[in-house]
Amino acid sequence: MSNNNKMKERKNIWTKEEVFNLYNKPLLELVFEAAQIHRIHHNPKEVQVSTLLSIKTGGCPEDCGYCPQASRYHTDIEKNDLMTIQTVKAQALRAKSFGSSRVCMGAAWRNVKEGKDFDQVLEMVRTIRDLDMEVCCTLGMLTKNQAQRLSDAGLYAYNHNIDTSKEYYKKVISTRGYEDRIKTIGNVRKAGLTVCSGGIIGMGESLMDRAAMLVTLSTLNPYPESVPINSLVAVEGTPMEELEKIPIWDMIRMVATTRIVLPKTTVRLSAGRTQMTDEGQALCFMAGAGSIFAGDKLLTTPNPDINKDMELFRILGLSPQKPYIKGDKPQVNENYKNSNKKNEKPIWSRPGHKIDANITATKNGAETKRKTKLTLK
Ligand code: SF4
Repeated sequence: MSNNNKMKERKNIWTKEEVFNLYNKPLLELVFEAAQIHRIHHNPKEVQVSTLLSIKTGGCPEDCGYCPQASRYHTDIEKNDLMTIQTVKAQALRAKSFGSSRVCMGAAWRNVKEGKDFDQVLEMVRTIRDLDMEVCCTLGMLTKNQAQRLSDAGLYAYNHNIDTSKEYYKKVISTRGYEDRIKTIGNVRKAGLTVCSGGIIGMGESLMDRAAMLVTLSTLNPYPESVPINSLVAVEGTPMEELEKIPIWDMIRMVATTRIVLPKTTVRLSAGRTQMTDEGQALCFMAGAGSIFAGDKLLTTPNPDINKDMELFRILGLSPQKPYIKGDKPQVNENYKNSNKKNEKPIWSRPGHKIDANITATKNGAETKRKTKLTLK
């Protein structure tokens, strides 16, 4: 590692241009540098296997242009109400039996609302935490007091992706603001939870947008413990359905660049793995990916079979990481359902700018053809 990068690692101050130049280095140089940094902060022989459970699927009021769960798009996903605690427990036990040490529960909500459903989620958190697994949730925007109750129930991490750069975000989502995402991450931090936040590449953004996203993550103080890097899975019926998949080299570059800019974070190889070869994934592990999501589905999009993943681990000499290697198991406050319960009325923004590609229906419900198509830059 050059002295220059050693300095940046300590200061963690990066400009967009510096990250852009890093991303565009000769590929093998970039991977080599990332692999060196990975070995300083992480055990390169271990990869965490995480399981993503969609505990409430579809019917989301937001307009994220990549997401098949938005109710305004016409996709084939099967909608489901909130799962029962018993189902979640059974799925978590199954995941644990094949080496998963972390469960991330996702609900297609704009933001967490008080009431029966949130209480049920708190119970799920407690149940999985008692199985000795790290528990993460991704439930949309969250107030400080809701974050505290999740923490009291034994939550280990909260996921809230920033998705892309602040500039490009305006072309992907119009129903909630970038600042609200940052605010939710702040609320998570104040509750003492670890932060999981990353993004998606291949949504038509420029390379400078990718660099800017990493700069934003690096300036969060402290930066996220976990950064998922997704490659877009273009789902029919979404505004991004016609985007071509990105080259594997982009994914390797993004993982390596993330590793260098955020040296201590766990870089998670997330959506899009079915589109990657074993060799491509191996290069991502070399470049610093420290986690995969296992299970045949990633929320609603396909994911490799766990047996195939375990065979790849065997070939590469990797082992699944045990839970709580990077942090302590959270204590439970038995009063978690009522602790910090307040009648808050959070005001989340609705930027409401027009994204032509996200408009699929007229006011009276008749479908219109999309006027704009998103294309890769
Ligand atoms: S990404 Fe989340 S918030 Fe956005 S539409 Fe999908 S489920 Fe809703």
